[in-house]
Amino acid sequence: MKLNSVVLAAIVTAISVVSFAAETNSWYFSKDIPAGGFPQRARWEADYRFDIPEKGGISFDFTCSNIEPCLNFTLHARRGTTWVGYSFAPDIASGEKTRIVISRKDWNVKDLPGGKLDDWKGFDGFRLSAWRAVDKAFQIKCSIENFTVFTEEVPVPQKREAVKLPPRKGERRLAWCHRAWGMSDKASWDYTIRRLKNSGFTDIIPNMCRPGGAYYESKVLPVMSYVKDHGDQLEACLKACKKYGVKCHVWKVNWYIGRPGGCVDGFVEKMREAGRLAIDTDGKDIRWMCPSNPENRKAEIDAMLELAAKGVDGIHFDFIRYRWMNMCYCNVCKNNFEAKYGKVPSWPKSVIIDGDCQSLSEWQRNHVQFRCDNITAVVREVSKRVRKEYPNVAISAAVLKRGGETDKASMAQDWGLWCREGYLDFVCPMSYLSSLTFFKRCIERVRTNAAGVKCYPGIGYSVMKPRQDKPAMLAEQVQALREAGFEGFTVFDYTPITARALYNQFHE
Ligand SMILES: [Zn+2]
Repeated sequence: MKLNSVVLAAIVTAISVVSFAAETNSWYFSKDIPAGGFPQRARWEADYRFDIPEKGGISFDFTCSNIEPCLNFTLHARRGTTWVGYSFAPDIASGEKTRIVISRKDWNVKDLPGGKLDDWKGFDGFRLSAWRAVDKAFQIKCSIENFTVFTEEVPVPQKREAVKLPPRKGERRLAWCHRAWGMSDKASWDYTIRRLKNSGFTDIIPNMCRPGGAYYESKVLPVMSYVKDHGDQLEACLKACKKYGVKCHVWKVNWYIGRPGGCVDGFVEKMREAGRLAIDTDGKDIRWMCPSNPENRKAEIDAMLELAAKGVDGIHFDFIRYRWMNMCYCNVCKNNFEAKYGKVPSWPKSVIIDGDCQSLSEWQRNHVQFRCDNITAVVREVSKRVRKEYPNVAISAAVLKRGGETDKASMAQDWGLWCREGYLDFVCPMSYLSSLTFFKRCIERVRTNAAGVKCYPGIGYSVMKPRQDKPAMLAEQVQALREAGFEGFTVFDYTPITARALYNQFHE
């Protein structure tokens, strides 16, 4: 496809360079990223008109001069103010070239109104982002060459066979189960745990509660009506765990209310009225409890303590963070922040940040720390009390996959500190990556951040791509963890599909 009509001036600033070669449809980008958590990515935009055909898609040759400090890459196609994105992490070395092929169906449309784009025509540009994985400064150059729109369907590559791994004695194998009632609507907890045990797994992390609803008899959280109809799910899970000899670490979703259906009726309205919901940059409330609100913190602490008292092997924090940078600006936050740091010139303007900030003002820096402290306060308090009152209950958390300043900046999760201070017994970093080389880098990074605390990296079986290669990728990632000396891993998410793969791989 020829591109004579496109004229793109080179954009040159002190930190970012874009140049364009029209004869080959190629763009060359470079950027210097300073040390610390900001900016979160190197980002480049180019104007270019294209359609995405129904059966085809786009493809381009991609290179990156410096792969190691990157978490992954995203390409967003732009149409006016609408964006569709695609995430990729190619198994290439720095400087090596690879062809990226993005079919129509590969784009992430979940953020679009109605979850779809009707005609897929008239895109007017794209944005390439290289997301940082590390705190250190680095320079990065990327290129997109021979950008092409294609119209045929891409043939499905041959399926990669999964290597059968030898069993390993003493390995800790954990699985997150996202549903409070077992692996599926049809499978009981007894069946779920029996199947897990037969697959050689040692621990289950069942998701039993959110801020607005528990699937067990609770005195501190609203109880879901499911319990009335189907019984106490934690009790059922624990009974099966004892029967089959599987350890149970109850998973609490902290702060995040979840989609409709994840809480009891009227919960959101009640929290809104009480001023307990978090407020975003537009001044709107979101389905997230404000982490600096003392009532909300007490509710989280009480729920974790109540779980610890229920005869479980452990309690597990999740969503123990902020949603993203764009929260919380409620009055409680304003008062708490000003009590510590002084009167803010303009609230919330003075403290608002985004991922593309090049550097932060003192107010912004303080706000990053303020958010981290709000989250850490709950982890610290729960840990202190559980250690004292329930010393046999293990404390663990699902944590982000970068660590350091970078995770503190984005979601206010200072989980390295929690490890160094001894608040946690083990961590399960959500190192969900389809690329083996990116996964290998990730597990070293999170192990360093865990500072000697036991670390069972997450394998994102449910979110791996392409689907047909998932069993092969599972085996490769487990092998990589073993070779790197890890003592276990955590699989997300225990569904019937995952269960089949785990059984095939680990059944003895
Ligand atoms: Zn707030």
